[in-house]
Amino acid sequence: MRENQKSVDAYKESVELMPGGVNSPVRAFKSVGMNPIYMDYGKGSKIYDIDGNEYIDYVLSWGPLILGHADDRVVTKLKEVAEKGTSFGAPTLLENELAQLVIDRVPSIEMVRMVNSGTEATMSALRLARGYTGKNKILKFEGNYHGHGDSLLIKAGSGVATLGLPDSPGVPESVAQHTITVPYNDIESVRYAFEQFGDDIAAVIVEPVSGNMGVVPPKDDFLQILRDITNQYQSLLIFDEVMTGFRVDYHCAQGYFEVTPDLTCLGKVIGGGLPVGAYGGKREIMECIAPVGDIYQAGTLSGNPLAMTAGLETLKAMDRSSYDDINTKVDRLIEGYRLAADKYNIPLQINRAGSMVGIFFANEPVINYETASKSNTEAFATYYRTMAEEGIFLPPSQFEGLFLSISHTDADIEKTIAAVEKAFQKLS
Ligand code: PLP
Repeated sequence: MRENQKSVDAYKESVELMPGGVNSPVRAFKSVGMNPIYMDYGKGSKIYDIDGNEYIDYVLSWGPLILGHADDRVVTKLKEVAEKGTSFGAPTLLENELAQLVIDRVPSIEMVRMVNSGTEATMSALRLARGYTGKNKILKFEGNYHGHGDSLLIKAGSGVATLGLPDSPGVPESVAQHTITVPYNDIESVRYAFEQFGDDIAAVIVEPVSGNMGVVPPKDDFLQILRDITNQYQSLLIFDEVMTGFRVDYHCAQGYFEVTPDLTCLGKVIGGGLPVGAYGGKREIMECIAPVGDIYQAGTLSGNPLAMTAGLETLKAMDRSSYDDINTKVDRLIEGYRLAADKYNIPLQINRAGSMVGIFFANEPVINYETASKSNTEAFATYYRTMAEEGIFLPPSQFEGLFLSISHTDADIEKTIAAVEKAFQKLS
């Protein structure tokens, strides 16, 4: 067994200080029944916990670190910029530079507004969509996570086009009733919802590749049909690319699938490990935001120099060939999983979009929340604990995807596959 006494002691202290001992729920490792692992430092594809254990990291801070940990280019620039002051409450040239880069790479974005998190980006995009269209309702998909804004923390009821019920105490029903939730990849439900409520739907918000019920790519022309229906009803189409943005492709998921939304939300990779989010889209829509328009949105630290620098250095380091390099490693990793599953007769479904990978312990293909929920979470927990013991750090939930960075080496992949073999052997 790996030594973990320091993490055990740290957790005892944390639970007295913070709810559940953490600042974001999944870090409590509840679904895999483990003590949280407290991290000390990271370099490249590796992280090291406070007990001195090394792990190959497939969490990458839940997606942002596409270069791996403590990339020299990012760290050097951050030090340089920090020396000059960390925030001014006045514009800096760094904001122009990152905005230009985002506009150049993201097909739908003509103008962009920087914020501090993915949650802020989606909340602001919804306000903008409602303000711009003068409509109230939002259509979202079951199992898509868009941060913890009230309008988006809505549970899907069973059946088609169920009007939302709050997912969390504290979300008023009066807010939830404006959110319609339908199954992902189910275009008939979308059509039905529009037939019922189309005149009052301000926007459809969608993860173009769903990454919060495990990884679930869009079926065939799902995204294109969403584009057509929203056009037909003069609703906006919002791609929540907080996870997929600059990860699945150089031009984000919208470039990959060649569907152009009206608004795009970004986060994670755009901040390179610092707190950044952004939303952007057509000039005509974006100019409704204050101070040009009257839809209000602001932020004391939005666009701050350190955050802009980490984002800039990260995106500059990712050229088109970087994506090919990561994808080749993902190919090999997936092959290893498949061979191990065949060898030990483990029912396994693997979904993938670029360097987002979903491994489901399930018998049938995973295409939406319902099929994802049929996964065997006990098998996942056993596999998870073996992998951790073998020095592989994975997201501690069956319903989260794993990520690769440009720092992952062939040797990392082979070591991971060897660990998968051990874990599957145990399960067989
Ligand atoms: N949207 C998507 C698709 C996400 O995956 C997340 C976070 O995981 C968010 C929004 C919320 O972003 P943040 O945690 O930065 O608020």
